[in-house]
Amino acid sequence: MTSDTYFTARGGWIEVIAGVMFSGKSEELLRRVRRAAIAKRRVQVFKSHLDGRYAGVFKVSSHDGRTTEAIPVDTAAQIAERVHVDTDVVAIDEAQFLDERVVSLATDLAARGKRVIVAGTDTDFRGEPFGAMPELMAVAEIVDKLHAICVRCGHPASRNQRLIDGKPALYSSPTIMVGGAEAYEARCRACHQVPRRDEDQADLLI
Ligand code: ADP
Ligand code: ZN
Repeated sequence: MTSDTYFTARGGWIEVIAGVMFSGKSEELLRRVRRAAIAKRRVQVFKSHLDGRYAGVFKVSSHDGRTTEAIPVDTAAQIAERVHVDTDVVAIDEAQFLDERVVSLATDLAARGKRVIVAGTDTDFRGEPFGAMPELMAVAEIVDKLHAICVRCGHPASRNQRLIDGKPALYSSPTIMVGGAEAYEARCRACHQVPRRDEDQADLLI
């Protein structure tokens, strides 16, 4: 049971689904969207263009293969332009890739009586706050932080391990990589590796 189940606010509100990759954020977003549709709410789903998972940029896909149609956007302003006046629920996936104005957008939509569901990766590959996610978590009424399973030790995973050519990426690696040459693993804090310099790599047990 997640915390959206019993939430009945007067007017609109903001829900954030945060966590690492593979933690089930998209699954949870889709679950809430499906239930809103069953309740005959008018739902619009948006998603950052930057996530091309399964090459399906017009869909929200979870790792279990379920999908729903999504409107691809590059900026928060594009969401503002596309939200219909009679929409009840606005769902946004991969919010960490959107600009800071997504915070005022979500706040504005909630003030206009809409339920806003935002899913995103709350920490980058370094384990540091990612994009507008920390602010979204602060202004939200409800925050669910999900965990994956650490592929190293089987404990709850709270970190995104970036690997380049099979080795942990350096701290100085860019926050967002274009081209997709990198790979990611879910890891716990203890198994997460972010070397500061090339020499540090020699000390790592990979
Ligand atoms: P997210 O949107 O957070 O990246 P998804 O909803 O797309 O997550 O995918 C979650 C699913 O990924 C899980 O239900 C599971 O089937 C699968 N999965 C693959 N690797 C892992 C892992 N290391 N830990 C947990 N789930 C994983
Ligand atoms: Zn671990």
